[in-house]
Amino acid sequence: MEWEPDAAKEIERIPEHMRRMAKMGIETSVEKKSKNIVSIEDVKEAAQRFNSLMKKDEKTTKIAIVRCDIVSETCPGMACFKAFNKRKVHFSDYGEAEIIGFFTCGGCPGRRIFRLVDSLLKHGVDVVHLSSCMLMEGGYPKCPHIEEIRQMILKKGVKVVDGTHH
Ligand code: SF4
Repeated sequence: MEWEPDAAKEIERIPEHMRRMAKMGIETSVEKKSKNIVSIEDVKEAAQRFNSLMKKDEKTTKIAIVRCDIVSETCPGMACFKAFNKRKVHFSDYGEAEIIGFFTCGGCPGRRIFRLVDSLLKHGVDVVHLSSCMLMEGGYPKCPHIEEIRQMILKKGVKVVDGTHH
């Protein structure tokens, strides 16, 4: 595939580690237009597509759910996902959102929380939901460590929401 000189110059502005991928993406879209030479317009179009994708990603709320390790032995978590997918109960206020983590506390007193929230932060987590199983009295007792767990997450600078599907 040939590149017009101004298109080749424009692509040089992209950081080196991303340039190869960007070139491949642009050449693929140029091929789809049945062309065999890349113009400056093709590069600008690709830049626009990339920018709008980035903006979309910025607007997406990134959610993680922590749940009780004991309850996870009997619950695969369908109700949490169902509530999220249908934007019900504690997920009803979200627009663009995705679940980026679904994890158990690691057992009393929530020994895994600290490390996993650190990992989630690297992936831009905005909010952690404390699953309904941690908050409810039912076939199992309410989590006795819920306040410590909540504080652990808040100290990391991440918002906490109580509940998922109840
Ligand atoms: S700390 Fe709470 S949520 Fe975690 S296993 Fe114990 S009771 Fe369940």
